[in-house]
Amino acid sequence: MGILDGKTAIVTGAVGSIGRACAEGLIAEGATVVVSDLDAAAIEKAAEEIGAARAIACDVRDDAPMAAFVEGAVEIGGGLDIAVANAGVVNVAPVVENSLEDWRSVTSVNLDGVFVTLKHAALAMVASGGGSIVAISSITGKAGYPFAASYAAAKAGVISLCRTAALELREPGVRVNAVCPGFIETPMVGANKDRFAELSGLDLDELLEQAQGGYGKPADVAGLVTFLASERASLCSGGTYTVDNGLTASLL
Ligand code: NAD
Repeated sequence: MGILDGKTAIVTGAVGSIGRACAEGLIAEGATVVVSDLDAAAIEKAAEEIGAARAIACDVRDDAPMAAFVEGAVEIGGGLDIAVANAGVVNVAPVVENSLEDWRSVTSVNLDGVFVTLKHAALAMVASGGGSIVAISSITGKAGYPFAASYAAAKAGVISLCRTAALELREPGVRVNAVCPGFIETPMVGANKDRFAELSGLDLDELLEQAQGGYGKPADVAGLVTFLASERASLCSGGTYTVDNGLTASLL
């Protein structure tokens, strides 16, 4: 018996570390999970490895393919109960060195993509009697983070989008929440550590040892996402939930 038995879920960006852990967490609690990511071969492989019901390749920025992705889950489950809007990218650069194109390459995935996911998921959930939407924001959506302005701004936008959507969707029974991970050991962080050190003169590993007690794991995020997806969180909507081992609780 899992807390998500009989539920149908979608997860975007499920080839990546946190998305995959979220899909695994939902499956472990009994949900039927349909996953998506950009590359067809990669998402097929991930789906097979984790036991997802179906893999559908699509870009979170594309409206019609995302509608088809949600429809694919509804076909399997007879409705949609859970959506995890997880896909994201980062660009580490000083704010003044961002071209408008650089800026949009991040905000289009991290904010527009969450909007597109949320919209289609919410429409399906309203049609099938309610559900739970969890968007992966970041602690950088709550406080400044040098050299990731487009990322931080988009993540702040996700928090705001979730709050307003939660209010509009309360009556049809759709809960909407934002999860803000601290620093989680994933390729996204690994790939940008050197550039961050170059720009800031700071060693992220050392910094995090002090500020967060080291890196978190994708499963730390998945645990909270699974709870918010479940009916145990039935009064949780419009919230912003932090998973950072106290990093943002500290002034220094
Ligand atoms: P990751 O790079 O391992 O995974 C991101 C996934 O998103 C990849 O599989 C990628 O292919 C997919 N993706 C990118 N653009 C896409 C698009 N346009 N359409 C569909 N899929 C797309 O990164 P991760 O660390 O697992 O990050 C997952 C989420 O968690 C992101 O939203 C990220 O911003 C957020 N987050 C991560 C951390 C961290 O420390 N790793 C902290 C806070 C928030």
